[in-house]
Amino acid sequence: MKWNELLVRYGELSLKGKNRNVFIRRLRKNVKSALHGLETVDVQAERDRMFVRVEDPVEMAEAMERLPKVFGIHSFSPVVKCEPTMDAIYETALQAVQMNETEGKTFKVEIRRTDKEFPYISNELQQMIGAHVLRNTSGLTVNVRKPDILLHVDIRRDVAVLTSKVYPCSGGMPVGSNGKSLLMLSGGIDSPVAGYMMMKRGVQIEAIHFESPPFTSELAMKKVMDLAEKLSAFGTTVKLHVIPFTEIQQKIAHKIPDGESMTSTRRLMMQIADRVREEVGALGIVSGESLGQVASQTLESLTAINEVTSTPVLRPLIAMDKLEIIQIAQKIDTYELSIQPYEDCCTIFTPAKPKTKPKLKRVKHFEGFVDFGPMIEEAVQNRRIYTLPRVEKDDFSDLL
Ligand code: ATP
Ligand code: MG
Repeated sequence: MKWNELLVRYGELSLKGKNRNVFIRRLRKNVKSALHGLETVDVQAERDRMFVRVEDPVEMAEAMERLPKVFGIHSFSPVVKCEPTMDAIYETALQAVQMNETEGKTFKVEIRRTDKEFPYISNELQQMIGAHVLRNTSGLTVNVRKPDILLHVDIRRDVAVLTSKVYPCSGGMPVGSNGKSLLMLSGGIDSPVAGYMMMKRGVQIEAIHFESPPFTSELAMKKVMDLAEKLSAFGTTVKLHVIPFTEIQQKIAHKIPDGESMTSTRRLMMQIADRVREEVGALGIVSGESLGQVASQTLESLTAINEVTSTPVLRPLIAMDKLEIIQIAQKIDTYELSIQPYEDCCTIFTPAKPKTKPKLKRVKHFEGFVDFGPMIEEAVQNRRIYTLPRVEKDDFSDLL
């Protein structure tokens, strides 16, 4: 018997009425992209499930490692197929159950009978197959409520498909199925988590990072690229826009009083992000802000920052505790990178006592003395753009 195929169950996308086909096509593309480089892979998407065939056993193990990261997949199971005859089904069912440790375990047979002309109905099949398995194994008992082993038998006109082991995956929606947003990616703990959470809701991410050389280092830049690369594992490639921000930060430091300078910095970042967002055709801006975490993340500060744009600013971490955020960062493997001690542009220019309740009127008053418009344009035009992961996947084109 050959376990060279995985049955992939769709996540939330199965609920999505008319958009279903779009979702399935997107998921298929993302699965192919995640399995890129494996040569014996074939992906067949159907209306309610997907089959991933991997001929080479080493590649199969690799595919089973990578698939849980792909959003839009609820779970997968190794499957085995046989002729839709009772003899073949009996034999295969037994082998499928015996893939698991059976001693002291409970099991249940579940039938899906797509071929309505098959000579037995589901209830009969459930009993016949269950009895056969019980007779031929030791230590197994039946438990229909919460079985340790669920043997699923799908009887179709031309084939029977059996599975017995379920690997849970991340769920969510296929990245790209809910449009594109621009992630404000610092080198901290929060923003990569924010990006991950939006990707899980099907949002494709491009990232923007503000750097202030020589105050920020090459190593800080590398860390941000590493973070963007980590995020790319959850979807397709991630484009990273790096904005030269030194000149604007110095201008703010000279011209805006300490109490308001941090708010202005954020407002300038937001305006630049919004210009880049427009250029890349994204619909929203994502940030890693969490209410009350620091002075710039009070409702008063957020109001002052938001005032520069009507673009939706998505803040998935707004109601989360730092510890919860750290747990996710650890799970997605960005935490160790994020805690590397390289300076961020904001940390360096942060005044000793930024106001937690900035007055928008005052902020705008001081900003009025500086013509930031041309500086914003210059920063947008002079940005560098990287595509992550760094290794060019040149035969990606057929997937896009
Ligand atoms: P993070 O851990 O994501 O850095 P933080 O708790 O340190 O967040 P801030 O430094 O105040 O908070 O930043 C708030 C948000 O602003 C970040 O989550 C990020 O989305 C954005 N941001 C901050 N600095 C930068 C930067 N240099 N480039 C791009 N975005 C930034
Ligand atoms: Mg930060």
